[in-house]
Amino acid sequence: MLRIVVIVITYSVLAGAISLWCFLHSGTPGKDITIPSPILQYVEDAGGKGIVAELLVNAVVGAAVGAFSLNVRIALLCSAFAVLIDIDHTMWYLGFPVPGRPNHSFGFAVLAAVSMGLVFRNKSRFNARLFGIVIASFCAHLSADLFHGASLPLLMPFSAERISPPALSYVGFLATGILAAALSGIKSDRGKNGVEID
Ligand SMILES: [Zn+2]
Repeated sequence: MLRIVVIVITYSVLAGAISLWCFLHSGTPGKDITIPSPILQYVEDAGGKGIVAELLVNAVVGAAVGAFSLNVRIALLCSAFAVLIDIDHTMWYLGFPVPGRPNHSFGFAVLAAVSMGLVFRNKSRFNARLFGIVIASFCAHLSADLFHGASLPLLMPFSAERISPPALSYVGFLATGILAAALSGIKSDRGKNGVEID
């Protein structure tokens, strides 16, 4: 269990660092600057309730997608990672004039998944299982966001432009997430091949 806590903390730091890096290298930020409201004002208005609901939805969808691994630990990690993707909102809440949501991009998914696989490699073997969990949680999170029609900067850090994928694209993300979670679960059955997460 301690290892899961370490994995979650590492993912938080990584997600924060990647979003910071994206903020600093986000192409033409002038195109998509969001003028932030101060954090207190945000919490006081209706949006304050919105963020709590969004976190809950991400936790539930992340856990549901992770459950296809048939592994409780993977479902828990998937849920935690799905929530933590929104750590990219932090700077916006703190009042920095940054383009929103760099963690909602394919670049983030690949960087985070590869980094986690490398950091938690086991006996110099890449942690493919953790790689799959990060991809599954990313797909779960994006399917929830796209379900209610969000437009996201999918190509960050190359472009900060928000993209609105076709209406039913959330189904594709959901299916990909479920597949990634299921594959992560299969890996766990092989057990001693260096892909254990704890
Ligand atoms: Zn989101």
